[in-house]
Amino acid sequence: MGKPVLSVIGETKPELGSGKVKAFANWQLRRDDDGIAWAILDAKGTGTNTLSEAVLTDLAKLLDAVEADLPNALVLRSAKPGGFVAGADISEFREAKDESAVAERLRDGHAVIDRLEALDCPTIAVVHGYALGGGFELALACDHRIAVDGAYFGFPEVRLGLHPGLGGTFRLSELIAPTEAMTMMLTGKAAHTKKAKNLGIVETVTEERHIRAAVKAVSGKGEQDSKRGLKAALFDIGPARKLAASRMRSQTEEKAPRAHYPAPHALIDIWEEHGGDRRSMQKAEIRSFAHLLKTDTAQNLIRVFFLREGLKKNASAKNDIECVHVVGAGTMGAEIAAWCAIKGFRVTISDLKLEPLAKAVKDAAATAKGAHLSDMEIRDALDRLMPDPKDYGLADADLIIEAAPELPDVKRELLASIEERARKDAIIATNTSSLELGGLASALGKPGRFAGLHFFNPVSKLDLVEVVSHPKATKKTLSALNAFVGAIGHLPAPVKTYPGFLVNRVLTPYLLEAALMVDEGMEAERIDRAAEKFGMPMGPLEVADRVGLDICLHVADSLRANLDRPVPDVPDWMRRRVENGKLGAKSGEGIYKWEDGKPRKEDSEGDGNAELQDRLILPMLNAAVECLRKGVVSDADTLDGAVIFATGFAPFRGGPVHYARERGADDIVQTLEELAKLHGPRFAPDEGWKDLA
Ligand code: NAD
Repeated sequence: MGKPVLSVIGETKPELGSGKVKAFANWQLRRDDDGIAWAILDAKGTGTNTLSEAVLTDLAKLLDAVEADLPNALVLRSAKPGGFVAGADISEFREAKDESAVAERLRDGHAVIDRLEALDCPTIAVVHGYALGGGFELALACDHRIAVDGAYFGFPEVRLGLHPGLGGTFRLSELIAPTEAMTMMLTGKAAHTKKAKNLGIVETVTEERHIRAAVKAVSGKGEQDSKRGLKAALFDIGPARKLAASRMRSQTEEKAPRAHYPAPHALIDIWEEHGGDRRSMQKAEIRSFAHLLKTDTAQNLIRVFFLREGLKKNASAKNDIECVHVVGAGTMGAEIAAWCAIKGFRVTISDLKLEPLAKAVKDAAATAKGAHLSDMEIRDALDRLMPDPKDYGLADADLIIEAAPELPDVKRELLASIEERARKDAIIATNTSSLELGGLASALGKPGRFAGLHFFNPVSKLDLVEVVSHPKATKKTLSALNAFVGAIGHLPAPVKTYPGFLVNRVLTPYLLEAALMVDEGMEAERIDRAAEKFGMPMGPLEVADRVGLDICLHVADSLRANLDRPVPDVPDWMRRRVENGKLGAKSGEGIYKWEDGKPRKEDSEGDGNAELQDRLILPMLNAAVECLRKGVVSDADTLDGAVIFATGFAPFRGGPVHYARERGADDIVQTLEELAKLHGPRFAPDEGWKDLA
């Protein structure tokens, strides 16, 4: 991998102040010759600062020292190279079910932050990298915020079923336009440097080497100017706020219904009722946060956070791959290659034809833009991506990814030819989504260095990659592939070869059942709506159209041919559509007609019908239990994480197995038996249910 120039010429050392150090467990305090105190956060035993209880308790002690001998200004900064503060320590939120104890802890935290805000000297947060959640709240309590270029600010709490809980709700809406503040808190989207400056979150944006001068410049000034704008005062009075709140409520309901995601709605309620009155907003924020934390939604979303961390751990080995060669520049190969180049790898890509290669390079620029890269970074990424019709890069590559069409004979022949030309120690991977790996492996002389790397479409948006093993794959190969997936910022899920592997095995019965319902004459919109009411981000028929009906058909046929349990045949109407080129979103028509990347749907009244939902969802759970029983995946948490991150399975339900456990295996088995009586043996409960305690 090419080294960034800065690591060669030496990065600018971060400015952490000067003078004698007074050390606290997690903070260091220095006072420089200008009488400016530098409070440097370096949380113990971790590479990332979080605002844990210990860090806050320590901050209180630091404030004692500062108050006792007031400096000319106080700077808050992080000693960690990655960023300022990543947020609260989420492990402290787990199982926090005692509402009054949580409220008590929050009040203690608020007291510390309030003290920082009330200090009788200018306070300055200097932020590099991220300032998220509690970290952003800490910065907001300061009089000034200076950003090192590249810094970003955000409140991701909604993704955990929460809203800001350490004063963010009122401090951000006092600093910037209240509607902008609410949007940031409701969507969880971060504001990157330029936007943060435009919104008025930061006062100064500068380079690391100018930090000392920037600190000196603002320390002599009064508080950072507010950029709330003229309209802000309007929202301090009831009626305008009420109107805005009601608009926010209906927009939020569309994306995150209150029944499933109470947090954003609670935030709107707080603002509507208490906006403009910081004392009562503070009390309401604490009350509401403590209440939300104990809801199933928050606890399940916190679980999802840790499922992600768990998957990341599969990539703990050191990545030694630097050069990647991709064979096949179609939908998948092109994006896999672009993504690897964006993540710093040297990539060559080949295809039988030239047009897909030209398109691959063109599309890579758009993918890089979508990944928030600067113009210079886009240029560098594109420099690392080389169209290579003659496969010259193959002989040098550490990893070769085959992404040719899903035809067993083509793939076997291609893999054998790749092996002939590759370095002896290179790893060879296939992106097949449905072919049994043992069969492909037998085409290679040394099958130990071969395994599956099953990416999902679109690669840049779906983090999960199944690392698929087969009996002959070596541990070294699998560990190297897991590490590689981590190095491109994705989540590796180790799975064993099985029809559909894990994700398609679980997802396909859901899509098929929806197709059968259409066959019975049910409206597509009604079916999709039922799944959305369960909490799926989109219904199964819309998913099928997005994935491509041709691909769904292929996977369904392959499952039917290879599974030892009944899989219904794909209905005729679907085969005909594929034959007629109606493939879904990519051809403009599939089950729906598509315009501007969206399906045209007739209005359908919400159908929360539990029977309809069970008919769609339970086949997924049944397949999940089968995968656990067959050891396709090592444990239920990996399964839940993989299915959530690849398919979007209702995150607030904590994953298919978690949902099944919460609902109760007995209830599910009974419902499956009833469905089997009505619709056939495909619903017969898997024998693994008895092991699901
Ligand atoms: P595609 O048809 O879009 O692209 C395949 C490309 O491979 C074409 O450009 C073709 O010209 C090229 N090609 C054919 N034979 C070749 C050869 N011998 N050497 C080099 N190039 C060759 O297919 P795709 O959708 O990108 O699928 C590729 C693989 O990824 C398949 O195994 C598929 O199952 C898998 N996959 C697809 C998706 C998806 O949603 N499309 C998702 C996950 C996995």
